[in-house]
This record gives sequence, structure tokens and C-alpha cells, in this order.
Amino acid sequence: MYDFCVIGGGIVGLATAVSLLDAFPGGELVVVEKEAGVGRHQTGHNSGVIHAGIYYEPGSLKARLCKEGAAATKAFCTEHGIAFETCGKLLVATTPLELARMGDLQARAAVNGIECERLDAAELVRRERNITGLGALFVPSTGIVDYRQVCAALQQIVVDRGGEVALDAKVDRIGETGSWVEVRAGERSWIARQVVACAGLQADRIARLAGIDTDFQIVPFRGEYYRLPPSRSDVVRSLIYPIPDPDLPFLGIHLTRMIDGSVTVGPNAVLGFAREGYRKGSVNGRDIATFARFPGFWKVIRRNLRSGAREMRNSLWRKGYLEECRRYCPSLTLADLLPYEAGIRAQAVRRDGTLEHDFLVADTARTLHVCNAPSPAATSALPIGGMIAERAAEQRRRLPTPSTA
Ligand SMILES: Cc1cc2nc3c(=O)[nH]c(=O)nc-3n(C[C@H](O)[C@H](O)[C@H](O)COP(=O)(O)OP(=O)(O)OC[C@H]3O[C@@H](n4cnc5c(N)ncnc54)[C@H](O)[C@@H]3O)c2cc1C
Repeated sequence: MYDFCVIGGGIVGLATAVSLLDAFPGGELVVVEKEAGVGRHQTGHNSGVIHAGIYYEPGSLKARLCKEGAAATKAFCTEHGIAFETCGKLLVATTPLELARMGDLQARAAVNGIECERLDAAELVRRERNITGLGALFVPSTGIVDYRQVCAALQQIVVDRGGEVALDAKVDRIGETGSWVEVRAGERSWIARQVVACAGLQADRIARLAGIDTDFQIVPFRGEYYRLPPSRSDVVRSLIYPIPDPDLPFLGIHLTRMIDGSVTVGPNAVLGFAREGYRKGSVNGRDIATFARFPGFWKVIRRNLRSGAREMRNSLWRKGYLEECRRYCPSLTLADLLPYEAGIRAQAVRRDGTLEHDFLVADTARTLHVCNAPSPAATSALPIGGMIAERAAEQRRRLPTPSTA
């Protein structure tokens, strides 16, 4: 019998597996992943940014985990020879309203203990000759990395410490008794004392397989990107972000330098018609039926009609998308927007239509489910893994000892 079975080989599942092996040295652990390799979904289709954490509510778990996670990610990359770069990020204000919001953001950064520098328009253009705005905030500690490489290193640690990573294993049944949990993937099965599920886009389905009566649903939101041609890769030195709207903080197309030297533009946020369909126009009937039957989904749509319509228009109309970036990078042209693979966010939506922006954990006696791990969960994955391992240890203390079970 395994001590732990972790479902999901994304960055959160793998970081949790490593933390469990730290907390229970010599413990028997298996990570069960449905794809042929780790990090193939959200973790492998993101912007690759190591966020500093200036946006988040001071004192919140998200703010703390992001700051700790950024430092931990950089230390992990240094220790394991993974390329990363602390290139900094510029948040550019292009309207008087954004300039006012920039002041609020600067104050928030100060409370969160994150260094940031205010630049006027002239200083902005001196630092980034292709970027224009009324002013900007420069956050020097923001970095870039390839999170797939972080996943590969975490997978290796799991294996080096005697854990197993079972690939091509799509979990389709979870059976819990008073003494153990059986996790099945077709003909294969694993029996463990405890199960931790970090299933990203499938988190609600895995929670329901474990018998949890969830009051939320995962709704997929596509984040579509373009890539600049190599001849434009020197268009920016740091990452360029618009000042976010505090009501819709996840919206806003940015220019992102990637660790491989390319530059991407994006992502937007449009409703996805397939949880794991990355190609434009991907459709999955089961996924659509799942959100269409869920009352919370329709409430989200009604509440966000205007922004949703704008995002959808820019998704279908490349010129509209371009205009969003030209607000701060006017030299970009349509010819600069080359195709690039989309990412898909697993957005937990509550029955009352609330978008869950924080981590959400559900449990049974022997299972723990990370039901929502939104951005910046790649940055924060190492401390999130530590936090989940602590919860698993608490859960273990409540379980009957094997001899009395
Ligand atoms: C477009 C986009 C841009 C982003 N940019 C950033 C960024 O720059 N910086 C940042 O910090 N964060 C970013 N994020 C957020 C970050 O990528 C995610 O929060 C993080 O990757 C979540 O990791 P995860 O392990 O929870 O999920 P995932 O990476 O999705 O992993 C879940 C895993 O579970 C597996 N699984 C699911 N169902 C089953 C099953 N039945 N059986 C077995 N295995 C199963 C999946 O195959 C998958 O491997 C971004 C996200 C998106 C979508």
C-alpha cells in the first residue's frame, strides 16, 4: 500500500509530491498523470512569468505564497541548473484613470514589501524605446522561466527519492474505505492511505469521483497568444503589462519575453469550448454540457457581458487584439502577430456566479483536492506544495492508526 497517491502531474501536484516526501521521508508515493509526460496542461501552456506578487490583497494567502514562491522558484532553478532571468516588469499606464490606479498599485506593492519604482513618461521611453505611456511602475524582481523544466526537475526528485510517476494513467474511479483509498485508471490501480488531487482543469470531476458534492464548476477560459517574429525579439527588455482593472485583474494583454529568447503577446481571456482543446475552434460536447447546465456559469456570463464581448471580438478579429497592445507598443503591426499555442485557465465558478480567485481545497476523510489553483500558482507552486503537505499531515493525524483501522 502507498502512503500517498497524488493525482495530477502539473507543477502543483509535483511540488506537493516533493513536499510530502520531505515531510514523510521514506514514504511510499505515486504520482498518477493521464498524459504521456508531466506539465502538459496549464503548467506547460502559460506565460512563464515568475510573478513578484504586487497585485494581491495585502495579508492574503495569495500575496504571501506568491512572494515566497518567487524566491523559492529562483532558488530551486539555481540549485537545479534551470535557466531563469530576473528581467523585471513594467506596468504601463496609458490613460489618466490608469495613472490613478498605478498609484494604488504602488501603495499596495509597498505594503506587500515588494520593491517597485515609479517612472515618468520620459524615463519610461528612455528605458524601453518602443514603449509609450503616461508613466509606469517598474518591478525589478519579476522573472521568467520555463515551468516545464521546473516540472521535469520535480519529477526527477520524486523518482530519486523512491517515488513513482505513473504516466498515461487517466484516473476514472476513486473508492474510499475506512482504511484506504483505491485510485483506478482503466485496468491499473493504486491503493494508498491518502490521496491528494491536483487535477487542474479536471479538478471538479476528480473531486466528484471521490464523492465530494461540489458547489463549484471548472469553466475553461482560453488565453490566446501570438508570437513576435525573431526579428522583433528585441522590441522590449523587460515584460510589459497594462495597469489592471481592479474588477477584472486577470484581463490585459502583455508583452512577455520568454526564456527561449522569443517574445509573446497575450493572453486574452475567452470562454473555452473544450477544457483541453488548445487549437482554435476546439469543441468538446461533454465540457460544454457541463458548464451549460451549471447556473453559476450563466450568472458569470450576464455579469461580464461587456468585457466578455470585447475579449471575444479581439479573439476573432486580430486587428482588435493588435490595438490592445498598440496602446503601449505602437510600432507593432499585424504582420508581427504570428500564431502561438493557447493556454487554458481552469477557473472555478461558484453556483452563485462568483469567480473564485483564491485557492480552494476540499476534502474527505482520506482525500484532499486542490480545486482551484489560479495564476500565479506556477510561481507559488513550491510553497503551495508545502501547505498541501501540511494539510495532508493534519489529515493523517485524524486517521485511525493502521492497526486499529
Ligand atoms: C494562459 C495562462 C497563463 C498563465 N501564466 C502564468 C504565469 O506566467 N505565471 C504563473 O505563476 N502562473 C501562470 N498561470 C497559472 C499557472 O499556469 C497555473 O496556475 C498552474 O500551472 C496550475 O498548475 P496545476 O498543477 O494545478 O494544473 P495543471 O498544470 O493543469 O496540471 C493538472 C494535471 O492533472 C492531470 N490530470 C487531470 N485529470 C486527470 C486524471 N483524471 N487522471 C490523471 N491526471 C489528471 C492533467 O493531465 C495535468 O497534468 C497561467 C495559466 C494560464 C492558463
